[in-house]
Amino acid sequence: MIDYLELKAHGKINLGLDVVRKREDGYHEVRMIMQTVGLYDRITMERRMGPGIRVETNLSYVPNGEGNLAYKAASLLTDEFGLTEGVRITISKRIPVAAGMAGGSSDAAAVLVGMNRMFRLGLTTEGLMERGVKLGADVPYCVMRGTALAEGIGEILTELPPAPDCHLLLAKPPVSVSTKAVYGKLKAGELLPEQHPDIDGIISAIKDQDIAGIAGRLGNVLETVTIPDHPQIGRIKRIMTENGALGALMSGSGPTVFGIFTDRGQAEAARTALHNAEDGRLARQVFLTDFFRKKAGREGGENK
Ligand code: ATP
Repeated sequence: MIDYLELKAHGKINLGLDVVRKREDGYHEVRMIMQTVGLYDRITMERRMGPGIRVETNLSYVPNGEGNLAYKAASLLTDEFGLTEGVRITISKRIPVAAGMAGGSSDAAAVLVGMNRMFRLGLTTEGLMERGVKLGADVPYCVMRGTALAEGIGEILTELPPAPDCHLLLAKPPVSVSTKAVYGKLKAGELLPEQHPDIDGIISAIKDQDIAGIAGRLGNVLETVTIPDHPQIGRIKRIMTENGALGALMSGSGPTVFGIFTDRGQAEAARTALHNAEDGRLARQVFLTDFFRKKAGREGGENK
């Protein structure tokens, strides 16, 4: 048995996000290009002698205990395997919250991986992904990580070759966005053909290792909902492109924006410009990172 684990739960961005149709059950069918990023939450897991799951985070506005997705992940495996010992989970959050970067889903995925290791449950990556979908549509992807096409409600995954290296600037304006509310407001049937991103073109550019081709095709139909409500997203995109980004896009339902750069100096200049923009109020959280490349055969929440 393992007593203590330290894990990294990486965030994700969407290089492309298209909504194909709304199903009768209200869910939206999507085609998304998912990309894991270097930015991560730090998670520690300590085995407890008695039963009980404890979850704490460093942020007052993220739920501790049962309301946390990491708790639900630990609880799912505890119940299924009848575990008699508990676990104490601490999460140090760096991934912006309610920001379109799947931070909660990634924490849950890392805890599934951690529980599997700590209690030697013998589950395969596929077994963890099957359980993950019960916690959220993005959780299976967060177990798998890397570059992938996500279809269905996001849970049907096709692994793609790793996207080429670049410098990635992330900036979140100080607003929170509810994914459910954004999908609720999307009028998928009224989108114009040119509002749909060229998902297959992005896949070809990834296969060709063509970073300019990827950056030139970035597209997210949810921008049609989130940007009118939060115009600062458009202003962040502009600052990124004015400072040399090959492309800039809102991730997921927003409001985080990412910019793709091939020149480190330009990415740093864009970071400074965003820090200073509108007296420091435009983007409170700015991170310069990269695409995360997973090591072969390793699922989410790898050991430090
Ligand atoms: P997605 O891109 O999957 O829609 P998101 O990045 O928009 O996710 P999250 O950061 O995952 O959103 O958080 C959404 C909500 O989930 C938060 O408002 C928070 O109250 C709740 N939550 C529960 N557990 C966590 C967690 N471990 N980390 C962050 N938020 C959590």
